[in-house]
Amino acid sequence: MNFQDNVRLVAVSKRQPIDKIEEAYQNGHRIFGENFVQEGVDKIQKIAKSDIEWHMLGAIQSRKCKDIATHFDWVQSVDRLKVINKLNQARAGMPPLNVCIQVNLFGEAQKAGVDESQCFELAQAIVEAKHLTLRGIMALPPKQQDYQQQLQQFEKISTLYQQLKDKYPQIDTLSMGMSGDYEAAIMAGSTMIRIGTAIFGQRD
Ligand SMILES: *Cc1c(COP(=O)(O)O)cnc(C)c1O
Repeated sequence: MNFQDNVRLVAVSKRQPIDKIEEAYQNGHRIFGENFVQEGVDKIQKIAKSDIEWHMLGAIQSRKCKDIATHFDWVQSVDRLKVINKLNQARAGMPPLNVCIQVNLFGEAQKAGVDESQCFELAQAIVEAKHLTLRGIMALPPKQQDYQQQLQQFEKISTLYQQLKDKYPQIDTLSMGMSGDYEAAIMAGSTMIRIGTAIFGQRD
């Protein structure tokens, strides 16, 4: 067990109306996550609060990198070199973009993300990119109902995070845990949970 005493909460507002985001903002919340670039950019522009930290969580098409890099504060779903290069180029002239590598350690072909060795390769490229800051990894493991199974999966991800942190001590973000499994994720060392339905209710 590797419990962190301070876990950040990303409120995942994808496919939720703007008034729900504004309500959470009025209640003091400042970290929001979106999955779809156009929807996210529209919300960022309409809500227009400079003290919100916006996280991009969804699959990245390389032709959308410019929109992502110029509107979001974080990108958690980086999974290939081409995207790293495009985000880096598009971010020039702004403070560095915070980046997590999306990992996929359970061989799920339908999901984005890289394995352990690719993760180290991408990490090095991000560290070398002038306009990006490597923050850590993001994972979306298979859904499990059973707590022990959830915990086992999260511990495998946590082990990779520790290995990456041995090489890059500056990283500080292990993003794992959603509405259905965040307790196990926190128990396994998550530093950032991403919660949608448990905050906002079912999506449209
Ligand atoms: C939708 C989503 C979430 C939130 O999921 P909930 O089950 O609604 O909490 C978290 N992370 C990612 C990457 C997502 O796509």
